[in-house]
Amino acid sequence: MTANIIDGKKIAQGIRDKLKAAAAELTVKPGLAVVLVGADPASRTYVHSKEKACQEIGFYSEVHRLPETVSEAELLALVSKLNKDSRIHGVLVQLPLPAHIRTDKIILAIDPAKDVDCFHPLNTGALFSGLTSGILPCTPAGCLELIKSTGLALSGKKAAVVGRSNIVGKPAALLLLHHDCTVTLCHSRTADLAAELQQADIVIAAAGRAGLITGAMLKPGAVVIDVGTNRVNGRLTGDVDFASAVQTAGFITPVPGGVGPLTIAMLMQNTLNVCRQKL
Ligand code: NDP
Repeated sequence: MTANIIDGKKIAQGIRDKLKAAAAELTVKPGLAVVLVGADPASRTYVHSKEKACQEIGFYSEVHRLPETVSEAELLALVSKLNKDSRIHGVLVQLPLPAHIRTDKIILAIDPAKDVDCFHPLNTGALFSGLTSGILPCTPAGCLELIKSTGLALSGKKAAVVGRSNIVGKPAALLLLHHDCTVTLCHSRTADLAAELQQADIVIAAAGRAGLITGAMLKPGAVVIDVGTNRVNGRLTGDVDFASAVQTAGFITPVPGGVGPLTIAMLMQNTLNVCRQKL
């Protein structure tokens, strides 16, 4: 038996359709401002997808493209301006930033109420405490939508998250914990990754290592969500060796077409939530 392939594009489209309908009911358009510094090809693609999603669902959007040489002070001034702009409900500064700009300083400068990426410590702290601020971390929230799409009841399930970054791994583990999973958070020093994964009903792979997780490492029937986006010989590939994992897993996301579209849909959801709260 091979695994069911979770169609991230289709699930994201369903969410976007609902957001479009919800936005049409509001008296003001939800507004998202995206700031892109430099010309990193991957960042440009992500920003373009966010702009396109806003257009498709009827959100107001602004993209501020700044040169690689922009100073930290100039970037902070733009963030401050966007914080005060009443048309803008979400402010997002695309990461990574050039080395001369302190990323932490920029994240702290974003108004927490407009921090639709959910990177500000006030929002990550709220998540840690299990409080609902209306803003959820986009990629982890997208992973959760994909898991829920399988119909699996999460309560009591064993989940393993591979990767402990502030953007993906840690918040994904917290969301699973809030859904009553028993969570193991793995990282590069985990002594026996296969032994941890073999116990897991749910695996979220977010290590940024192509093909790290093979079918032999998985529990038969597991739900496998592959966040990894790695370029190998010009091809986009995940952290999971799809060919072998599809033989063992019960459900699996492809790369591309799995988590990526959900990340953008969750960003739009956050922007709508902020707009609703303002109204
Ligand atoms: P980071 O590089 O910040 O974190 C990677 C994590 O993986 C670290 O915690 C690291 O452990 C762990 N790790 C590295 N190697 C191993 C290993 N061999 N075994 C177990 N754990 C390991 O990456 P991000 O969290 O930012 O991103 C992870 C991946 O997800 C990337 O491929 C990224 O491109 C992708 N991504 C995709 C998104 C999407 O929308 N599809 C959105 C965001 C990210 P340690 O802490 O010990 O170093």
